[in-house]
Amino acid sequence: MASNGVLDARDRAAMLNRLAAERFDVLVIGGGITGAGAALDAASRGLRVALIESRDLASGTSSQSSKLIHGGLRYLEQLDFKLVYEALRERDLLVSKLAPHLVKPVRFLFPLYKKVVERPYVGAGLVLYDAMEGTRRPVPYHRHLSARGALRLAPALNPGPLAGAMLYYDAQVDDARYTLAVARTAAAHSAVVATRVTAVGLTRGGDGVRVTGARVRDEESGREFGVTAEAVVVCAGVWTDLVHELAGVRAGYRVRMSKGVHIVVPRSAVRASTGMILRTEKSVLFFIPWGEHWIVGTTDTDWSGDRAEPAATEEDIDYILAAANRVLVQPLTRADVVGVYAGLRPLVAASETNGKGGKPTTKVSREHVVDVPVPGLASIAGGKFTTYRIMARDVVDAAVSGFGREVVPASVTDQVPLLGADGLAAVRAGAGRLAEDYRVSRSLVEHLLGRYGTLASEVLDLIRADPELARPLADGHPYLRAEVAYAVTHENALHVEDVLMRRTRLVFESADSGAGAAAQVSEIMGRLLGWNRRKRAVETRRYLDLIAAEHAAVAPGPMPSADLAVSAAAG
Ligand SMILES: Cc1cc2nc3c(=O)[nH]c(=O)nc-3n(C[C@H](O)[C@H](O)[C@H](O)COP(=O)(O)OP(=O)(O)OC[C@H]3O[C@@H](n4cnc5c(N)ncnc54)[C@H](O)[C@@H]3O)c2cc1C
Repeated sequence: MASNGVLDARDRAAMLNRLAAERFDVLVIGGGITGAGAALDAASRGLRVALIESRDLASGTSSQSSKLIHGGLRYLEQLDFKLVYEALRERDLLVSKLAPHLVKPVRFLFPLYKKVVERPYVGAGLVLYDAMEGTRRPVPYHRHLSARGALRLAPALNPGPLAGAMLYYDAQVDDARYTLAVARTAAAHSAVVATRVTAVGLTRGGDGVRVTGARVRDEESGREFGVTAEAVVVCAGVWTDLVHELAGVRAGYRVRMSKGVHIVVPRSAVRASTGMILRTEKSVLFFIPWGEHWIVGTTDTDWSGDRAEPAATEEDIDYILAAANRVLVQPLTRADVVGVYAGLRPLVAASETNGKGGKPTTKVSREHVVDVPVPGLASIAGGKFTTYRIMARDVVDAAVSGFGREVVPASVTDQVPLLGADGLAAVRAGAGRLAEDYRVSRSLVEHLLGRYGTLASEVLDLIRADPELARPLADGHPYLRAEVAYAVTHENALHVEDVLMRRTRLVFESADSGAGAAAQVSEIMGRLLGWNRRKRAVETRRYLDLIAAEHAAVAPGPMPSADLAVSAAAG
């Protein structure tokens, strides 16, 4: 029976009791997009499911991506047609049916600098991109633009070397919020979702071979207990090799980490009314419109440091600024950078290369791999955010194929809209009436609809009960105090960082990384979670220390040289 998908942090003890007491069909390890997707896939097939996440939902790679739901134009160049085709189909399904409140079409300008060769080449790629998508499409076809047409949309581009441009469409998403919505939808299909619970060992059946569950640790109390399941599904991203080691198994693949960094600059720093994608020597650079900001990135370098704390360096930031300044008439500088974030791509490499084959990470496969190293254990890695639903289906198929009982139904997630999607058109049409009913501004309702879809009324109910909660959380940012309360009562936020880093994105959208809002967040959370004054202060300090550590990793450095900007633009 479907429940309401509320993840109330105040119910954590009851939820941990369920985790320890029930016998599950599937235990999913990892609460990134792949694990949340696997939990939803299995739960919507009627299975009893538990999902455990060591930190917060989406606290790994799934909150640090470029936030694009896309076919991946550049994979066409690598002739990876299957990946592009699959991703485009997924993009359209998410935009039109499964999550129209969260996944939104976005336009990209692809500036061209070589008159003769480039236009037919890129144009052919986009014809293929559009053709793969088919004719029933929720996003428009690509278009050719002259240099003048391109400059009308993006006056920020240096007109000198510009030969023209292509305009095409993809989609974007708040990756952390999307992951949360998938996990909540899984909970609405009765999955138990537990954060800050780590798998510390896997248990074996009487035969000493078959995996029958996991030994887990509650990170809040340090208490350890067992979770029993017919199959364990590992969706641990860049931690996958470590979980395989915990299980004492050797899988047919290893995960190689590639770091990708983005910088965040104010919208006013780059005059353009559309996103942009530029070719770089190694890959591509995106300018992605993000509210009042641009997200600009990314990089692609090997990483062997701490999986939980990939750090952006001075060189990463300079690389992005230099690449951006190749095409901008008014260069971006360090002073424009409001925020920086780094994530780790979990790329799959065949086991024999041991993940250390020395190949550049851009050449390692972006496709996903599923393995069943021992009965009762299925694991998956690789892929991309866009194709999480396919990945989830494939790993759950692998897990249930070992069930020695009735046939489990096939995946139905292509027919399961995420919480907040159902009836969206009517709620959007009634936004004005909602604003009147709740005595709030229309823009406040629009803001909530764009983040919660039809669940916006749940946040509005909190405001009706306490109008103080309609006040903004931080000056110049759209988030409300009510969203902090809702993060606790419906979205399982346990700490200040959960709110400032993932339920809202103040950590990279505000120049102070959300520091100024930390005490207020702690206050609102504390009231709901029963924190005394000391605990509130500890929570605030914990967040401030966290961002101080992140800032320390990025030492201030020189601005990219103007010479580099000019010579690169000319080339
Ligand atoms: C810079 C960058 C840009 C990207 N841009 C895009 C893009 O625009 N579009 C796109 O489609 N894809 C993009 N991707 C790829 C996409 O973000 C990833 O493929 C995806 O987020 C991986 O999700 P995951 O769930 O597999 O891993 P994660 O999100 O890392 O989740 C794994 C989780 O497992 C948990 N875990 C680990 N060990 C344990 C344990 N023992 N017990 C419990 N929990 C555990 C971790 O805490 C973590 O939360 C990008 C990736 C990067 C790095």
